Amino acid sequence: MIKYFKYFLASILILTGFNAYSQDVDSAVIRNLYSEALTSNISYENLRELCKNIGGRLTGSKHANDAIKFIEGKLKGMNLDNVYLQELKVRNWERGEKEVANAMTKKGRVNFNVCALGISVGTGDKGLTGKVIEVKSWEELKNLGKENIEGRIVFFSRAADQKGYTTGYGYGSSVDQRVKGAVESARYGAIGVIVRSATVAYDGYPHTGVMRYNDSLTKIPAIGISTKESDILSGLLKEDKDLEFYFRTTCHQDADVKSFNVIGEIKGSEFPEEVIVVGGHVDSWDLGEGAHDDGTGIVQSMEVLRLFQSIGIKPKHTIRFVGFMDEEIDQKGGRKYADAVKNKNEKHLAAIESDGGGFTPHGFSFEASDAQIEKLKSFQKYLEPYWMHLFVKGGSGVDVGFLKESGAALIGLIVDSQRYFDYHHSANDVFENVNRREMQLGSASMAALIYLIDKYGI
Ligand SMILES: [Zn+2]
Repeated sequence: MIKYFKYFLASILILTGFNAYSQDVDSAVIRNLYSEALTSNISYENLRELCKNIGGRLTGSKHANDAIKFIEGKLKGMNLDNVYLQELKVRNWERGEKEVANAMTKKGRVNFNVCALGISVGTGDKGLTGKVIEVKSWEELKNLGKENIEGRIVFFSRAADQKGYTTGYGYGSSVDQRVKGAVESARYGAIGVIVRSATVAYDGYPHTGVMRYNDSLTKIPAIGISTKESDILSGLLKEDKDLEFYFRTTCHQDADVKSFNVIGEIKGSEFPEEVIVVGGHVDSWDLGEGAHDDGTGIVQSMEVLRLFQSIGIKPKHTIRFVGFMDEEIDQKGGRKYADAVKNKNEKHLAAIESDGGGFTPHGFSFEASDAQIEKLKSFQKYLEPYWMHLFVKGGSGVDVGFLKESGAALIGLIVDSQRYFDYHHSANDVFENVNRREMQLGSASMAALIYLIDKYGI
């Protein structure tokens, strides 16, 4: 018995020794990924070029096409196994001339800095004038009814809820006004809408973002107003509820145009037909430079491939960068990619998206089966030294979300959200507001997770 026990003990030691060794190897690889990311300027320079040489990249615009060419060129310069474009058709909405807005009060004219909301119809050259009715809820709108709303401009002034820990909570508490405001107001005969920006920030930037129309109702023009100016307008209405508000927008939509997803990959050495995706969206809103939303997601995802090459990781599975087009408006890129995966019957292990801004990462959220989540959670110990505490079940990303049917584990990079809505969809979303180290921690974190998924499966 004692003899056997000795063998048993020896085998335990060998096994645990081996595990400790392999854990050391993985920890060393991951340390190298972070070291390379934190000491490199390449990804940050890519972001600078994307933001400063191209700028805002509205779906269907020349700038969006320039961005596709820029990213394709960078990928081709990386010595990857495959770089290609995936064609799709997208909406072609243009903002037109700088928007004009003002209120005629008893004391005189007060100007406002406004922006047309995404896909809104324009007012026409002459602009639009009307009395304003302020509302904070759908119920209030309904109670006011046609008699109070018809022929007027509806002003949605509900502020974002500040209470939640993540700022997405505040955004979620107010963005319904932007999305549905025009449709719901048109039901009662409104002629236009003004919408307080969906942000927890308090500043003078109007934030744009997509809105929706209902084809059976009149399409009325919609503009966004900053949180500060929203309060100013509320104040003016308290003094004079009959003030006349004027705004002029020349935004318009032409026929759909051709566009592309941009794809680049490192072929897997053992399972080239099995894919791990990492990506972000190429398009952005046009008021700023699309730096945090989602320039950082794009350059971080490209950086994952470079990090693999740079420290000499040869993946067993194919690691594929996807730059999705049209996330902001109709998500045609995400849909197209998922359709292609389905048509080719391509196996996907996982798809990671970075679209919460280039801020300090804190973990990953998983939209996956319980077994996949359990496996992913077992990787947490390797990332804990980099303050990646959150390995949780939750959402993933808008673009990778379309891959749900494929059975892939869908994964979102979780980042510190406190400053995201200071920039989101506004003229303030510029390169200068991205911190290189914070952004690169995100690149390394995604590379590390992909390294573990590739090595141990999921
Ligand atoms: Zn985004």
